[in-house]
Amino acid sequence: MKTWTTHSGQKIHRILERRCNCYLVDSGARFLLVDAGRENRWSDLKNRLLRLGVTERSLSALVLTHSHFDHAENAANLQHVFGAAVVVHCLEAAYLQQGNSPAIRGGYGLIRWLTDSLQKPLLVRFQYQPVEADILVQEKMDLQPLGCNGYVLHTPGHTPGSVSVIVDDEIALVGDTLFGVFPGTAFPPFLQDSGLLLQSWAKLLRTRCSLFLPAHGRPRSRALVERCFDRRSR
Ligand SMILES: [Zn+2]
Repeated sequence: MKTWTTHSGQKIHRILERRCNCYLVDSGARFLLVDAGRENRWSDLKNRLLRLGVTERSLSALVLTHSHFDHAENAANLQHVFGAAVVVHCLEAAYLQQGNSPAIRGGYGLIRWLTDSLQKPLLVRFQYQPVEADILVQEKMDLQPLGCNGYVLHTPGHTPGSVSVIVDDEIALVGDTLFGVFPGTAFPPFLQDSGLLLQSWAKLLRTRCSLFLPAHGRPRSRALVERCFDRRSR
């Protein structure tokens, strides 16, 4: 399991990887999970949480970067088993409550046409256990009351209610707002609104974060995100 440590000593463990990277922010006494992953990884997730000493009392919250199935399938389990408060942007709460989120849209051309034609069948296939969110985020939410030195920031574009978690103004957990899959680029292949996405990148670059951890693929450096942002904004 890969772990990063910030200057204040908060640890970020990549607790699940492959289909959806999930990150556990460990502040010493309390934990915060960012994204829940797919249900077929539930036992891995649960066992790894227990191994790291996470208990019902110490997992203060699960922050969902958005409500797509690959990020949210274990949300209900985490709420029931660990008592984690589910935190999500207000624009995603209704999808979570239905256990379904509009299918992922291709960013452009043929991919967009294909994903649009597959919307209905995908919606049925990606139904998950519905969850009632406990805390709704709007533009920004301080995580200090949940035991983490950081905040949630609204970073729409991939979906209207996508958020990122900024830890110690140093490391950003960005969900699908940035991708780490394709060499030399951080631009997500699936998104709702590319203009909004670039505005969110500008927001992320206004933080002092030097490292961006996406839900898919490898970490992205600030230099790569800046380069990619300049290229896309021209
Ligand atoms: Zn997504």
